Amino acid sequence: MSVLETQAQKVRDSAKKLLADATAQTVIGYADEGVDGLCVPVFITDVKDVGRLVWNRRSVPNLASYLIGRKGKTAIVAKPCDARAVVNLIVENQIKRDDVHIIGMDCPGMTDAAGAALHACETCQVNTSPVFDERIENAEVKPVSPEKRDAERGLDENLARFTKEMEKCILCFSCRQACYGCYCQTCFMDRGVPDWHPESPDMGAKMLYHLGRAMHLAGRCVECGACENACASGVDVRYLIREVTGFVKELYGYDTGLSLEDQPAMLTYQPDDREVGFLGGEAHG
Ligand code: SF4
Ligand code: SF4
Ligand code: SF4
Repeated sequence: MSVLETQAQKVRDSAKKLLADATAQTVIGYADEGVDGLCVPVFITDVKDVGRLVWNRRSVPNLASYLIGRKGKTAIVAKPCDARAVVNLIVENQIKRDDVHIIGMDCPGMTDAAGAALHACETCQVNTSPVFDERIENAEVKPVSPEKRDAERGLDENLARFTKEMEKCILCFSCRQACYGCYCQTCFMDRGVPDWHPESPDMGAKMLYHLGRAMHLAGRCVECGACENACASGVDVRYLIREVTGFVKELYGYDTGLSLEDQPAMLTYQPDDREVGFLGGEAHG
């Protein structure tokens, strides 16, 4: 049996036990029932159905947001990036720690339908779950290499890159729908009066959306890549958010979803916090 199949069998064994002894009323995991081998979320509530649970390199979706609003204790099969999202949902009081059982999967990285590594997985910095109730190990998962940040650019280059990505965007909001962190009942983009018949999506609206979302994800992105995986237009949805994440880490030494005790960078204030100003550079006074 391959290492992945062994992990999958351990998921099924665990789900059976959790449901049988009523530790959890539901187990959320992956079923091999999607298109092109893509796993889809499955909600198991009966021991007789645990055979539907799988685990493989196509267990791509981030399942964390399915925990919001659930009744009763729920177990979740969590990749490390999903586990970070679960931790951040607990820290942000969207779910309670006691209501979730985290089955933390060591993650070998996910692939697309052609077997190529997903972009987020190529640059993943956390491939074992930081918080879990049980861990399902994979001896083939290797420690990650040091993070590489994008090279710094000048203002003109930044604008050119941003515009190039925005030209591809059709403002479909799939990236928002896929993101665990976009759980607002009404998104800031839906608060205005929509123009249902634009000739093409307005460049200003696209820029507003992506800049606004990057700001709203400051110190909250768990680098799962669900947003870019959901984009059918090939937009590098995550590069702005990656920059903001690096900025928050550099300024506040904060990594999202690694600890239940750390206070989120954007919810704390210290009198000696650095004031860098919105457009960069140290602020005066
Ligand atoms: S980002 Fe990391 S933890 Fe998440 S699926 Fe990819 S390799 Fe696994
Ligand atoms: S912004 Fe993208 S990478 Fe970050 S948490 Fe949301 S879906 Fe995941
Ligand atoms: S970046 Fe992609 S997924 Fe997001 S709104 Fe634009 S086209 Fe849709």
